[in-house]
Amino acid sequence: MNPYPLTPFEEALDLVLQHTQRLDVEEVLFHEALGRVLAEDLCAAGPMPPFRASAMDGFAVIADDQAEWLEIVGDQWAGPAAALAVSPGHAVRITTGAPLPPGANAVVPIENSHEHDGRVRFDRNVKSGDNVRPVGEDMVAGQLVLPTGAVIGPAEIGLLASMNHIRPPVYRRPIVAVLSTGNEIVEPGAPIAPGQIRDSNRYTIMSSVVQAGGIPMSMGIVPDEESALCDAFRRGLQQADVFISSGGVSMGEHDLSRVLIEAWGTVHFGQVKQKPGRPTVFATVDRHEFPRRRLIFGLPGFPVASLVSFENLVRPALRKMAGHARLFRPTVEARLTHPIRRKGNRVEFQRARVEWHNGEWHATVTGLQTSGRLLSLAGANALLRLPIGIKQLEVGDTVIVIRIDQQEIADPDI
Ligand code: AMP
Ligand code: MG
Repeated sequence: MNPYPLTPFEEALDLVLQHTQRLDVEEVLFHEALGRVLAEDLCAAGPMPPFRASAMDGFAVIADDQAEWLEIVGDQWAGPAAALAVSPGHAVRITTGAPLPPGANAVVPIENSHEHDGRVRFDRNVKSGDNVRPVGEDMVAGQLVLPTGAVIGPAEIGLLASMNHIRPPVYRRPIVAVLSTGNEIVEPGAPIAPGQIRDSNRYTIMSSVVQAGGIPMSMGIVPDEESALCDAFRRGLQQADVFISSGGVSMGEHDLSRVLIEAWGTVHFGQVKQKPGRPTVFATVDRHEFPRRRLIFGLPGFPVASLVSFENLVRPALRKMAGHARLFRPTVEARLTHPIRRKGNRVEFQRARVEWHNGEWHATVTGLQTSGRLLSLAGANALLRLPIGIKQLEVGDTVIVIRIDQQEIADPDI
């Protein structure tokens, strides 16, 4: 018998997040900060643009100049300011992004100009400030540009570059050790004997860690043998913030992962009222030999169970460690394209595809939903979240769908 009470899913998620702390701060190169979370407010050191800049290719002029023909006194390219000024009756040829010469207050676009013999005439008037980007138009000196908690995307990387924040402070990404357990598990590519199974969990979990913003660390495959498992736990906990094992958490005689987790950490739950993924274990390790708290997740061996448990219970923890305020995927309401019959005694996450047509989402489950059938997740873009008590659903009924192909949204409770 599993000695642990069946913890309701929401309670299990709360326990995970309660025991999860944001990691420390490190400085990284701005162009390597994609997806990271900023740990400090960053302000503009100076104005942007830092000088009055032309917004067009054309002629720098004085806006209310009355002369019909202006004499072209020189060229100002984007780059260093030429020793030029604009006085009444004169113009300077100018390119986009070039500093406006002293005296000028507007730029006439090239397409409104007619040049002849070193002079220029315009067929349209300009007002003071036309086609000129004033100092600080984009941002003024001291302005808060990127607040603490900002997630760094391409635009943020561009802002870091223009503000010269070369090494922005960001939260560290969690290092996640991933171990497969079981006497029957073999490395893909190696010879396989009857009764053996190729290791898929380590690779599905490590790629999920990457997608969640963590750094995966492979701990290999360990047989159901106490000293080998203990050694793997020691090595993993020394190096990683999070230790994830799969297999060995159900009721069999060889299910030793649970025993090792109990030996190393404090177990917060050992069974979750969810389907798939019921035998999921969560523990924390606070030991003086480790610089900070470690988390252990003992995921079930069945490939779908381990991946769905990762999605629902591990991923939010990794996001929290990396400094994100947005921990969860967006959900949408969708209409079922077929009936569902089920027991309804646990919250269930069925794998599905949702598609948008006629102004609504439509959800179709991906075939047989057994927890060993990894094919039920291939091509799935959603998990149907079916609450306890719902046993029967018909075509057209509305269900809540977790978009596992989408980015996170804010959760007001976190
Ligand atoms: P367990 O939780 O160890 O009893 O494993 C449950 C089922 O999942 C068994 O059929 C295992 O063979 C299978 N399994 C366990 N670990 C893996 C793995 N790393 N890759 C693929 N299948 C696995
Ligand atoms: Mg096993």
